[in-house]
Amino acid sequence: MSIIKLFKGLIHHFKKEKRPTKKTIQPVIIPRSEHTISRNVISPNALKVLYRLHNANYSAYLVGGCVRDLLLGFRPKDFDIATSARPEEVRQLFKNSRLIGKRFRLAHIVFGKEIIEVATFRTHHHENANEKDARMVKGMIVRDNVYGDIEDDATRRDFTINSLYYNIADFSVVDYTKGMDDLKHKQLRMIGDPEKRYHEDPVRLLRAIRFAGKLSLIISPETEEPILRLSYLLQQVSPARLFQEVLKFFREGASLATFKLLQKYHLFAQLFPETQHALHQQDTFHFIEKALHDADLRLKQDKTISPAFLFSVFLWRPIVQASKKAEDAGHPPYVAFEKSIRTVLHAQHARLTIPRLMTQLIREICLLQLQFTYRHDSKPYRLLSHPRFRAAYDLLLLRAECGEPIRELADWWIQFYSNEHAREEMVKTISKEHIHKKSRRKNRRRNRFRNHSVLNNSEPESNI
Ligand code: ATP
Ligand code: MG
Repeated sequence: MSIIKLFKGLIHHFKKEKRPTKKTIQPVIIPRSEHTISRNVISPNALKVLYRLHNANYSAYLVGGCVRDLLLGFRPKDFDIATSARPEEVRQLFKNSRLIGKRFRLAHIVFGKEIIEVATFRTHHHENANEKDARMVKGMIVRDNVYGDIEDDATRRDFTINSLYYNIADFSVVDYTKGMDDLKHKQLRMIGDPEKRYHEDPVRLLRAIRFAGKLSLIISPETEEPILRLSYLLQQVSPARLFQEVLKFFREGASLATFKLLQKYHLFAQLFPETQHALHQQDTFHFIEKALHDADLRLKQDKTISPAFLFSVFLWRPIVQASKKAEDAGHPPYVAFEKSIRTVLHAQHARLTIPRLMTQLIREICLLQLQFTYRHDSKPYRLLSHPRFRAAYDLLLLRAECGEPIRELADWWIQFYSNEHAREEMVKTISKEHIHKKSRRKNRRRNRFRNHSVLNNSEPESNI
């Protein structure tokens, strides 16, 4: 052994000595005969990984959301594994693996489209940890790679129901945090001191709301109490991470329930300040709730949802508000509208990093609202073949249903979209009206010129 290694070993030894001795918790072991998780409902790839780790003499467990969801009778989104093997050891066992993550070092085992995430047991933070493995800034975890045993791993997780382990060695469920009881009582309870744990990672505020919304859980009083008080902590989270969390809200099929909870705990304003401001406007609540209700329904019917559409719904009212202001300041309607989309998206970007591609989609969905008013000649056909037509059309109908004076326009588009045979006639009628309007406008302009009038009596270009 080199002198440097020996020296490092000694330092490590003394650091270990300084740590307070750990209080061991006796886990509750629920044998296979007393729980409902069968291997038939576990992904065969996850089983393969568990068995290979087990056969190589490492301990290996399913953990987190998949165990929770299986016990509740839901199909898990993905299967996560916790093990005593270090990331490099996992890497060696699986040719189809790669190591990822800086904040959390993990192994991904790739089986075509399915990825099984394997994490080494981690421990809580302690002052003596090496900077390169663990880092806290102002009470917040920024790096978390200090390894421990299963008990350490169980107590550093967020909620008790997320800290249940399915043991591949004997098919039992191992429970260090009374998660099984909480699951039975549909309670969401933070492990440890909730206030401290929210400070460590403020995203846990959003996770509490997400699980409560998605699984219809009651947040236990001590876990609930600090949420409202600490909502401001979200300002410390990177906008990129917040964006990912918001996407999860949309994809769970419980976005309406979650939206209401985000309102209740004042967290929505932290994520969408401009939208929160617009909520004071008549009907905006209903406008958003209707869109989220429809999105949840689509997911229940195994249809897809478009996050860009939902972002457009959230930002629509702020954009219209800003556009009115810009028009009042003298900008022509189209310029005012375009400028407002940019301004609102820019302000939103400070809270959530919406990727550029999605920003572009939102812009298109909003701008197409103007195009709906042009229905003569080839214009509606061109709009129909626009890749963003469907999302823009859905927004148009939503606007009509929620108080905007565009019912007639929306009905026209419903007919045009759904009745292929009526299209030609519909466009003919509109085109005639258009020519008529145009000549009337021309005459008016001519008369105005004759009268040297400078009065502004132009017709509105859009129905926004
Ligand atoms: P989902 O069904 O949304 O995937 P999940 O509970 O599996 O829910 P993940 O984000 O996949 O959520 O995380 C897996 C597990 O890792 C969690 O169940 C929890 O035990 C732990 N975990 C995730 N995020 C945190 C966090 N911020 N703080 C503490 N533990 C966390
Ligand atoms: Mg998960």
